[in-house]
Amino acid sequence: MSVLLQQIEDELGKGSVIHSDGVAERAVSYWNSAPMTALAIVRPATTAQVSFVLALCNERGQAVVTHGGRTGCVEGTRSGPDDIVLSLERMNAVSDVDAVSATVTVEAGAILEKVQETVARDGLLLPLDLGARGSCTIGGNLATNAGGINVIRYGMARALTVGLEAVLPDGTVVSSMDKMLKNNAGFDLKQLFIGTEGALGVITRAILRLRPLPITKNTAMAAVKDFDSVIALLRYLQARLGGNLSAYEMMEGDYFAAVTELGWHPAPLERTSPYYVIWECDGSDAVRDDDHFQEVLEEAFEQGLIEDAVLPKSEAERGKLWAIRDDFEAILHKQTVYLYDVSLDIGSIEGYVRQVKSQAAATLPGSVVYTIGHIGDSNLHFFIQVPAGVDDSRSVADRAVYEPLREYKGSVSAEHGIGFEKKVWLEQSRSPEEVQLMKLLKNSIDPKHTINRGVVID
Ligand SMILES: Cc1cc2nc3c(=O)[nH]c(=O)nc-3n(C[C@H](O)[C@H](O)[C@H](O)COP(=O)(O)OP(=O)(O)OC[C@H]3O[C@@H](n4cnc5c(N)ncnc54)[C@H](O)[C@@H]3O)c2cc1C
Repeated sequence: MSVLLQQIEDELGKGSVIHSDGVAERAVSYWNSAPMTALAIVRPATTAQVSFVLALCNERGQAVVTHGGRTGCVEGTRSGPDDIVLSLERMNAVSDVDAVSATVTVEAGAILEKVQETVARDGLLLPLDLGARGSCTIGGNLATNAGGINVIRYGMARALTVGLEAVLPDGTVVSSMDKMLKNNAGFDLKQLFIGTEGALGVITRAILRLRPLPITKNTAMAAVKDFDSVIALLRYLQARLGGNLSAYEMMEGDYFAAVTELGWHPAPLERTSPYYVIWECDGSDAVRDDDHFQEVLEEAFEQGLIEDAVLPKSEAERGKLWAIRDDFEAILHKQTVYLYDVSLDIGSIEGYVRQVKSQAAATLPGSVVYTIGHIGDSNLHFFIQVPAGVDDSRSVADRAVYEPLREYKGSVSAEHGIGFEKKVWLEQSRSPEEVQLMKLLKNSIDPKHTINRGVVID
């Protein structure tokens, strides 16, 4: 063991450092089952220990890569044989569920679903929710400013963060752990760490904003005849259901058909429509909400906005509907698949998707483009399935997605971030001045590029 690792283990205690065999037992990420590579995995249990590790590594020029649940989609947790991985997995406490201020205090390694379940026991809701809820951590959620299915009502992770504590690469602890919704005393420093993908500091704790747990929850899935109707239905539901609309997700017919193939999820609707949407309302009126939801659905039928619909009769049925949207294993298990996450004006989406498909068909014959999206947030995800044996298929697929996006001035990342994967495309969505300022921040806070070296920017 190197002197550095020995010093870390002496300070953090036995079991805090995982060496080579243990490192290789872990998969690279949710998306890549190859064995992880790193000098060691270091697992601090307190903020003071994170500070100790970073200060020492910074002093010695040792690169550190921060790991949460490794569900990120842009290779932000990629580590090499000379890197130390700093895993927040032992810092997973959920404490101080405060019904008065409607906040919860969490350590960065807490799993999102565990936080949701803990606050629900006190009648409170943490509205952040995404398909990776069972594995992703609050630290990763904040570092990526995660979005998910409830953004349309509650905003992204940033909007739910009241207080935050982070450790700078030199070991300095910056704590803004207060519960105030309003605090304009100088710079709002916690924003330096939200959505910056661990490039400026390691998030160790946070105070998150909660809402009352909804009393009613209504969900529907519908088949829709064209994209204009997908948007018209969204606007109609927003008008009729008001602030209660908490999710509005779109799936193209090809995606729906693939995930409901025999052996995967049962199809609750005919598999022949070009579009499917799933929407959900969180309400507080136990007497009227269910009827109102049903009424609005019937009106949508009458207006020709939907062709067919299904309402779950139990929580289990609701889970099955959401699984069609969230569980895309049926697509991932086939051949090579690349995932994309872009954002553009909702009115331009249909034309843009057509362009992506036509470029993919021309440059990657035999490929299949599946499209889903947090459409209420103007956020699309593509899964591009490519045939085996195509040279450089990743960059050909990237061009099919990002080149047509240019004319719409869209973003190459709506919610997943840049990581290593999208670095070459960053300048398509950010001006030279913006990129320059990002570099200035990185070089000022982390002049030796100790943490997450090469993530987002060099
Ligand atoms: C099935 C599935 C569905 C998903 N759905 C969504 C979705 O709807 N919306 C969405 O936004 N994302 C989604 N994701 C992507 C992913 O879950 C999110 O990006 C999530 O926020 C990452 O959390 P994590 O703990 O896994 O972070 P990791 O993957 O471990 O890390 C992500 C980045 O954050 C950094 N980081 C991690 N922890 C810290 C910390 N404590 N301090 C500083 N930096 C840190 C890492 O270095 C890395 O750069 C999905 C992923 C999967 C697998």
